[in-house]
Amino acid sequence: MTSGSPHQRSSAREAALARAVKDGLLGPQVPLVGLLDVDGVLAAVEALNEAFEGPAVVQHTFAVKACGLVPVLRLLAEAGMGCEVASPGELEQALAAGFTYDRLVFDSPAKTVEELEFALAHGIAINLDNFQEMARVDGLLAGREASGPIGLRVNPQVGAGAIGAMSTATATSKFGVALRDAGAVEAVIEAFARRPWLNRLHAHVGSQGCPLPLIAHGVRAAYELAERINTELGRAQITGLDIGGGLPVNFDSEDDRPTYADYVAELRAAAPGLFDGRYALITEFGRSLLAKSGTIGSIVEYTKSAGGRRIAVTHAGAQVATRTVFMPDAWPLRVGVFDAAGRPKQGPTEVVDIAGPCCFAGDLTATGRELPAVEPGDVVALYDTGAYYFSSHFSYNSLPRSAVYGYQTDSGGQVAFALVREAQSVRGVVEESGLSQVDALVALRSGNAVEQPKEMAE
Ligand SMILES: *Cc1c(COP(=O)(O)O)cnc(C)c1O
Repeated sequence: MTSGSPHQRSSAREAALARAVKDGLLGPQVPLVGLLDVDGVLAAVEALNEAFEGPAVVQHTFAVKACGLVPVLRLLAEAGMGCEVASPGELEQALAAGFTYDRLVFDSPAKTVEELEFALAHGIAINLDNFQEMARVDGLLAGREASGPIGLRVNPQVGAGAIGAMSTATATSKFGVALRDAGAVEAVIEAFARRPWLNRLHAHVGSQGCPLPLIAHGVRAAYELAERINTELGRAQITGLDIGGGLPVNFDSEDDRPTYADYVAELRAAAPGLFDGRYALITEFGRSLLAKSGTIGSIVEYTKSAGGRRIAVTHAGAQVATRTVFMPDAWPLRVGVFDAAGRPKQGPTEVVDIAGPCCFAGDLTATGRELPAVEPGDVVALYDTGAYYFSSHFSYNSLPRSAVYGYQTDSGGQVAFALVREAQSVRGVVEESGLSQVDALVALRSGNAVEQPKEMAE
């Protein structure tokens, strides 16, 4: 059974929460857990493949920053996806998950010489960000042919979506070559003319808060530039268009809105030639593939009132829902309340704020919500948190990373779990905090500098 429909997904989530409580994956001793609906993820991959089916060759890559958990990446590799990586850590996560070099796209805006050399040596597709980086690659190739595709990221400067910090295509964005700046298009054409190995254009325009027409407008600008470059050069030098990811997710309800099919319809209307097979298409979706399949479950430790305000104190705060806590208007989450057995809570409602464990007043994952009255020992679930939440831990207050489990339900509603990431131990937190250097500063002050670890002394 795949949790293809919103209804299947929500009943699978309910079954998983109840079972997680029963099995002790979530409870007084383990007050926080991340859960991922494996069928939901696979259904999203299927919807993506279907939407883009057509004469054009399409390589869908998953943007690792949305969820860099190795077993999740392996699942996506098995499902036929490629992988978009933007740091040495993401690259190693993708390789550990079994992605071959030819299924990777390397996109960091700050690639070092060493990283570029690695990508060039292994034929990993690279998207270069700016003219300095192109010159750097000139030097590294030194006349050799590149073995993998190399693209240039462009910023069509089509404007911001609803969330400024998430908008990649503003006039002054830090990403790519800003196409509307004076002389930029001519300089890009010239750059392609001088570098026969430059064979892709890349535009990642969308993000949460961007309307589809804005994203499609940006992709069209990249497509039109590719057409112009190939026409002016009199050869089909650009063979691939990487249209990035950035499909927004509906955090208000269970529905998948917009769908990949909605997005493709918008793209087809804006740039029909994009799909006719002359260009290979590369996509880099992150959030839209995973968000709806993730749930954070937390035990309610206490409930209280302050100045007439009801507050439920949980263990899920800024460490797992960083964006929601710091930018609550941009990243609201749906919240569910379950009893101590993990069953959906019924009964009279109250207006309540859901707080996390962090020591600052704004550590709230929801405010002023009308929810079934919450009691200590209940479970609060944060929905749609499969991308950028439990995979992007923020170590405030030295709170440990929670465990993450994948789940699958069979047709009889039976739930099976697989551990994806172990919970971090408190000992692990201490070790990560310089434990092995415990005496370093005291010794420095007393003039008895402690011997450096080997790698550093060399
Ligand atoms: C973050 C990012 C993505 C993925 O964006 P989503 O909004 O998660 O789909 C894709 N490409 C690049 C270059 C990115 O920086």
